[in-house]
Amino acid sequence: MKKPELLAPAGDLNRLKVAILYGADAVFIGGKFFSLRAKANNFSLKDIEEGVLFAHQHHAKVYVTVNIVPNEDDFKNLSSYLLALDRVNVDAIIVSSISVLLQAKKLHCRFEVHVSTQHSILNSYAIQFFKNLGADRVVLARELNILEIQQIKKNTTLPLEVFIHGGMCSSFSGRCTLSNAMANRDANKGGCAHSCRWPYFLYHEETPISDKEISFASTDLMGINYLPQLIDAQIDSFKIEGRMKSIYYIANVVKIYRQFIDFYCQFKKIDKKQMNYYKKELLKIESRSLSPVFLNPHLKNEGILIHQNTNNANQSFIGMILEDSDSYHCAFVEQRNHFTLDTKVEIIQPNQPNQSVKILQMWDLNDNPLTIARHPQQIIKIQFSKPVKKDAIMRRK
Ligand code: SF4
Repeated sequence: MKKPELLAPAGDLNRLKVAILYGADAVFIGGKFFSLRAKANNFSLKDIEEGVLFAHQHHAKVYVTVNIVPNEDDFKNLSSYLLALDRVNVDAIIVSSISVLLQAKKLHCRFEVHVSTQHSILNSYAIQFFKNLGADRVVLARELNILEIQQIKKNTTLPLEVFIHGGMCSSFSGRCTLSNAMANRDANKGGCAHSCRWPYFLYHEETPISDKEISFASTDLMGINYLPQLIDAQIDSFKIEGRMKSIYYIANVVKIYRQFIDFYCQFKKIDKKQMNYYKKELLKIESRSLSPVFLNPHLKNEGILIHQNTNNANQSFIGMILEDSDSYHCAFVEQRNHFTLDTKVEIIQPNQPNQSVKILQMWDLNDNPLTIARHPQQIIKIQFSKPVKKDAIMRRK
């Protein structure tokens, strides 16, 4: 059975490395120029080069978003930027403008060109159009259901990428000026203020017509129910959304989908108990409501609109382990959220089942014993009840 690529987001070098260590086959990142997600700590060219080297050493790929919707002035330095990306050996760029695609081809760049979901590609005729222009892959619109995706795959030979997890737009991906109007921030230049997620009261002239706050936002996508059908349909790449997301989120989501894909491709089945386990793990990480959104062919409105979820998922992330533990099971840890000697801890690490450990003792860098780790990003030495590995995550149990 053909194994699909697992493609993860990375907002900076640390997250790129974590995504790859936790099982991503490829990561997508944004450069400082021509890229959406302006606040995602986008990569300098030097960072991109380092990220590509790290990825290639781990047999993974790096795709760079060059996906603004450009105005006339935006083209000034485009050619030199594309040539620079080619020089540092990126594997692909992701574009949402035909002009950027054509420019890359004209310059004979060696990287692939992938057409962004912002093109709202809903059919094989559109795919053929981009294939004729030289595109190497298209990212399908997030508004397709599983039956439509299966049908499109049968009618094209161009590799297809499908979103399986992460945030959604409440309009057709990115075709929205709500943020421009409400916050003077251009969503198609990376400045979306997520205005669709704000709480609103509805009025007709002076008369209120809603008795409670409403939001236009969609739930986030969790497509795991449809993964077996997507794998069987031989979709080439499964994309996780979220270049603004934390290390904790990326490590966990990548690990869960990695395990799912590997298991399903090996045994060609997944039982209900396992499916429930993966879903439960994904729900632990997310602080927003999740659903299969448009992948569900029987979608009703209530499956899309957000129901606020108050789960404080990110506070479960209490530490990042900085080194392999020594013979006494001691290791340095970077604190991420408040915890104490009595906190029940679960260790999450690449390629291993999660495991419970106890904190036996901890000290600050001056060897003073600690009972509480209360300072954000403080480096602490901890003696655990079991060995732990570098890059593992400590989660509150
Ligand atoms: S405001 Fe909402 S719908 Fe509009 S671009 Fe931003 S996330 Fe998408």
